[in-house]
Amino acid sequence: CGIVGILGRGPVAGEILEALKRLEYRGYDSAGLATIEDGRLARRRASGKLRALEALVAKEPIGGSVGIGHTRWATHGRPTENNAHPHVSAKLAVVHNGIIENFRELRDELKGKGHVFSTDTDTEVIAHLVTEAMNAGKDPVDAVASSLPRLKGAFAFAMIFEGREDLLIGASQGAPLAVGFGEGDRAGEMFLGSDALALAPFTETIAYLEDGDFVVLTHETASFRDVSGRPVERRKIKTLASA
Ligand code: GLU
Repeated sequence: CGIVGILGRGPVAGEILEALKRLEYRGYDSAGLATIEDGRLARRRASGKLRALEALVAKEPIGGSVGIGHTRWATHGRPTENNAHPHVSAKLAVVHNGIIENFRELRDELKGKGHVFSTDTDTEVIAHLVTEAMNAGKDPVDAVASSLPRLKGAFAFAMIFEGREDLLIGASQGAPLAVGFGEGDRAGEMFLGSDALALAPFTETIAYLEDGDFVVLTHETASFRDVSGRPVERRKIKTLASA
């Protein structure tokens, strides 16, 4: 129900938790986060309140300077720890808001290609669909671009990739997603959030994705593509929110 992504310069797990707290008002039943730690995906998830996730992260700390976080309001699959986001494949982790309407059809197709599913969520098909495109030789950006037209429904998601501490991808189709641009002593850091409020501790300069957009964030750039894959500009605005 709430999405956060941080492409930072230092450890991000604590800041992801901080941003998730700002999304609590939307309601949720479980939460989780993932980072790229020493090149490898690392993940912590918990059912129930953010307190439970926070306690887990305190007990089993998680490093990494790029990461994603999620508060889940279950639509497909019970609110268990195993169904909590992020969902992963061998190559990536994803957090997702909304519903993938055609997930059964996609899941059957991907199972037929040898993908093994480990949750009851609709979300997990996103991870395997993009992985399948990467297995076929596409880089992460092209893999997301070729997967998006296959996803039906209203959703937003954020994704990070094994071995890529310099990459954060977001997509939005009928559900809101904002990009935050780090400035001053946070220059070169990039953020994703379900709303500007979640990003207020980090930046007041944001740009909203338009319907069907996806965005590729690196430390240097935010490249927006529209629903047809064409590069587009999205206007930066100053929020009035303050941390
Ligand atoms: N449909 C997804 C799930 O049930 C995402 C729900 C949400 O927006 O939190 O896991």
